[in-house]
Amino acid sequence: MPAIEKNETRQSYTRTLLLPAIALLVIAGVTVTAFLLIAAGSADRRALERQTQAIALGLEDTRMELTLEQNHAGYDAATSPSPQQASQSLVISLLEQLGYRAVAFVDAQDQVQIMPPDAAPAFSTSEYAAIGSQLRATLPTGPSRTLHPGITRYASLDGSPALLVATPMPQTAGTAVVGLVALDERMAREIARSGMAESGRFAATRTTDLQWSSLPLNGADGSPVGYFEWQPDRPGTALLAHATPALLAAFLVCGLLVAALVGRLVQAARVTEDSHARALFAARHDDLTGLPNRAALTAHLGDLLVQRGNRPLPINVLLLDLDRFKQINDTQGHQAGDDLLVAVSQRLRGAIDKGQFLARIGGDEFAIVAALGTDNVGAPFLSRAIFDAFADPLVIGKSAMHIGTSIGIVSDTAGEATPGDLLRKADIALHQAKAAGRNRSVVYEEQMNELLQLERTIEAELRDALRLGEQLSVQFQPLVDQKTRKVVGAEALARWHHPRFGQISPGRFIPVAEATGLIEALGLFVLREACRVGAAAKGRTIAVNISTTQLRNAGFAEQVLDILHETRMRAEDLEIEITESILLDEEHVSSHNLMTLRAAGIHVALDDFGTGYSSLSYLHRYPVDRIKIDRSFVSPLAEGEQSVAVARALVTVAHAMNLEVTAEGVETEEQANILAGLGCNTFQGFLFSPSVEAVRILEIFRRDGKAPARSAL
Ligand code: C2E
Ligand code: CA
Ligand code: CA
Repeated sequence: MPAIEKNETRQSYTRTLLLPAIALLVIAGVTVTAFLLIAAGSADRRALERQTQAIALGLEDTRMELTLEQNHAGYDAATSPSPQQASQSLVISLLEQLGYRAVAFVDAQDQVQIMPPDAAPAFSTSEYAAIGSQLRATLPTGPSRTLHPGITRYASLDGSPALLVATPMPQTAGTAVVGLVALDERMAREIARSGMAESGRFAATRTTDLQWSSLPLNGADGSPVGYFEWQPDRPGTALLAHATPALLAAFLVCGLLVAALVGRLVQAARVTEDSHARALFAARHDDLTGLPNRAALTAHLGDLLVQRGNRPLPINVLLLDLDRFKQINDTQGHQAGDDLLVAVSQRLRGAIDKGQFLARIGGDEFAIVAALGTDNVGAPFLSRAIFDAFADPLVIGKSAMHIGTSIGIVSDTAGEATPGDLLRKADIALHQAKAAGRNRSVVYEEQMNELLQLERTIEAELRDALRLGEQLSVQFQPLVDQKTRKVVGAEALARWHHPRFGQISPGRFIPVAEATGLIEALGLFVLREACRVGAAAKGRTIAVNISTTQLRNAGFAEQVLDILHETRMRAEDLEIEITESILLDEEHVSSHNLMTLRAAGIHVALDDFGTGYSSLSYLHRYPVDRIKIDRSFVSPLAEGEQSVAVARALVTVAHAMNLEVTAEGVETEEQANILAGLGCNTFQGFLFSPSVEAVRILEIFRRDGKAPARSAL
């Protein structure tokens, strides 16, 4: 997975996990805070209500206490001998001991006497008189032993709240004692304490400070003359103040935990992703070479095809199949095979350009995907580069190995296609390349598909024919001596007459038989038929075509000798025709077969000489007795000197190596004459005879008289 993509998924993991976690935290925080604020507010309110009640009671207590004190002082003074002395002693005890600001006596006639005389009166005379008559109205008519509750009233004194207390004068019936006492700090403290408030005070006007609560002190007319103020107890707020740091700490811890959790999750996701990426890599790569595998190739082609869409964009697929890999693997061991594959993958890596895609898609199959264009130049050019890359031998352990490869190419420009289509077509081309011989590349053409279908049909039909043994036969084409024009032998040629398709040419079915392995059975059939004829025609050479595939079979020589024995044909009358491609074969098996057959006296001819690798220097490895100059050199002989020069060169070289020369496909006298001039030893061609049935060739042998000796050089 590319790094950028990885990063993005990581970020998206963080986003998807972190955002809900943060949202959850915020919601929880807001909810808890709101709940706490509401709870604190209501606790504060309830506490204030209770405190206000307690403070009101405290104020009431103060009024009662002052009334009680004034009553007591009155009774104490009443023990004085005369009413004047009693009044005097009361005034003294109220003003000096109890701290009254002023005392007034209101008698039954509403006469007001204020003490001390210089005290500023808090009320007008009529107000005093009103208080006096109000008090008198509450007095019991008979003598009473109970304390009179008196009358109290808040008033303003020098701008500060004060309390007026009116009690009856015990000694003088009908006289009211009206005391005026300033409400002081000590009383405020007492009241505050009774309400469990920290501090309290009396004030003339209501404070605007929100930290303070107040109760109005109403005067005679019901309007406030002052206030009692206190700092209320706020248990909710206090709790909040205490709880906030703990709460913040809790949130912080929660936040950290969530962050840690998210971190863990992101890390876990990353680990899963990494192992997923690793698994993906393993699933898409070949263990041995580290190259992408078939699945990766298919995916890559799929991507390219999707990218291409409707636009014209060339996609080239080269399928490579190593020649002879299976044999190396079988004979040198699997380790050598593995080492070879690694070495091959390295060579291939070196041969391709950046941007080209290399995969190992099977045992010894590789694929390259490139954009080289659709002409028949780009991809074949790359295949040449690949062949060049294998020009030098690969060194595996101590041995150097030459390895060849067949390449099938498909070049696709536009249109609908699937990876499967491209690979199938490349495979068809590869099949063709392999059939054509090694180290070849073949570009796929549409008709190859039909050809392939046809080949499949041929294979199935040939299998049936071999099983039934009725449709196949062998014909013989005479070999004619150049000097005597007598038939000295014949070449056995396979014939197939199909009940529905009629005559099918060997050029068609032999390659199929070679590609499918059916050549083994077919070859033995032809050999056996040829040997039957050979046994009946002692002294004539019977030539049999042998495929490279047959020669690579370790048991081949023995099979041939068995058939000779079985048919009683003489080994020296048999000639096997092999093609030049075998000369390139480094196979020990095929050379061993040839040695065994030659040692038994069987002759070897090199067929189609001049068409293949044409390197006579290989001949020392596979000693042969005869070369057959291919028809393509014979046909143009009458046309000019140049073709004659080529043919002459071939004959000269062969003779220099002590080899007999047969010219194939001689159709005219002119060709025969030129070839005779060049020194060819034998002729074969329609000029003399096409291939004929076994019975016929035996007749021809008989007609041509006694068997001539093998032509001497
Ligand atoms: P080949 O070995 O080169 O055989 C000679 C071919 O040339 C034969 O074609 C023959 O009919 C043809 N021919 C002979 N004289 C003339 C001529 O004057 N003019 C022309 N145009 N053609 C001539 P055929 O029978 O179709 O065989 C084709 C090829 O099939 C053979 O080429 C050989 O390579 C292969 N083949 C045939 N039978 C067998 C067989 O039993 N085993 C193997 N392995 N290959 C076989
Ligand atoms: Ca032949
Ligand atoms: Ca030939």
